[in-house]
Amino acid sequence: MSAGFHRRAGALWCDGVPLARLARDHGTPAWVYSQSVLETRWKTFAAALADLDPTICYALKANSNQAVIRTFANLGAGADIVSIGEFARARAAGVPAKKIVFAGVGKTPAEMAVALKAGILQFNVESEPELAALAQVAQSLGRTASVALRVNPDVDAKTHRKITTGKSENKFGIALAHAREMALASRRTKGIRIEALATHIGSQITDVTPYRAAFARVAGLAKDLRAEGVGLTRLDFGGGLGVVYRNETPPDLSAYAAAVRAAVKGTGFGLVLEPGRWMVADAGVLLARVVYVKHGGAKRFAILDAAMNDLIRPTLYEAWMAVEPVAKPRAGARRAYDIVGPVCESGDYIALGRDMPRLADGDLVAIRQAGAYGAVMSSTYNARPLAPELLVKGRNVAVVRERQTVEALIALDRPAPWQRR
Ligand SMILES: *Cc1c(COP(=O)(O)O)cnc(C)c1O
Repeated sequence: MSAGFHRRAGALWCDGVPLARLARDHGTPAWVYSQSVLETRWKTFAAALADLDPTICYALKANSNQAVIRTFANLGAGADIVSIGEFARARAAGVPAKKIVFAGVGKTPAEMAVALKAGILQFNVESEPELAALAQVAQSLGRTASVALRVNPDVDAKTHRKITTGKSENKFGIALAHAREMALASRRTKGIRIEALATHIGSQITDVTPYRAAFARVAGLAKDLRAEGVGLTRLDFGGGLGVVYRNETPPDLSAYAAAVRAAVKGTGFGLVLEPGRWMVADAGVLLARVVYVKHGGAKRFAILDAAMNDLIRPTLYEAWMAVEPVAKPRAGARRAYDIVGPVCESGDYIALGRDMPRLADGDLVAIRQAGAYGAVMSSTYNARPLAPELLVKGRNVAVVRERQTVEALIALDRPAPWQRR
């Protein structure tokens, strides 16, 4: 049996299940994930870096469904979290606290306290006031926080401007020179122990050169600081590795691993990595139905029952995502479609001017590589309930998140007590 997404007699399947059957049984729109693809991605990544014995902390924000996290946790994953909500999700899915790194520019003292009491691996600290707050929280709890200073190496990751994080004008990280001062000044601060330097220069990175530059800068600073008596024991090189949505040529794993290896090998530093997108993008599709094909004045629109509230990447990042018919593609002339949703925004689209086999009302389509930054970014705009998430393993299908009901959505609100019911 073929694993993952593939065509059989022209129709699109996930593992041993036709996507058309999933649509019939569970409705659309729906997210469909392949457990075998998730596992293969994890194992492939881990194998490529095995000689460096990294702690691989899956970046939960890419897809934080419990079933997805659990798949990785069962393979030994740690977690990279950016909120205490993600902390709870990671713990609930079986990730040990000792393998959790806490990133993000705005951790609150309350969030710090929860993570500190649980004994997480490290706080990736992004500013001087954050370090001061962490020291204070730790002192008040009589604990010591393990800290990685997140360094901003000022390299251009050459990705979309909204997902680049390692330039000096981005809000993320601490400039190299400043990180050095902070590390030296905090050597004797009670409540914190600076154990690592971290960096994460962006997402959907398709060129290995910025990685090499960033890793070299961070490793260089770490060696200097160690020589000056800062007790650094490891480096955290973040995530960001790109995937193929269309015709990108991201570095293959061996090139990425070589860049990591070049900076770490022989230094004696341990290694933490935080891959997100690379682990999950390929493992998921968003399954949707064409409600109408509409011929506008100048254009042909395929209006789906999925929209920007489900999948916002095209709207937010101008992301290009493959859209494929689920049934055997129709023969004959292809057509150009604007593939849009029913949300009342001109920005509500999945693909523009997309050349496709002919579509008709009622057709099912699959939006591919939707496992990362898909369901997690959904909203209920236009009072559209959150779509369900399905996990497929061989011929088995599990609903790993129920479709939200309109009633449940409304029940989140309540009238003020002075309003008549
Ligand atoms: C988002 C993020 C990641 C994961 O990025 P991907 O591009 O999904 O691999 C890793 N580390 C940090 C600090 C992040 O913010």
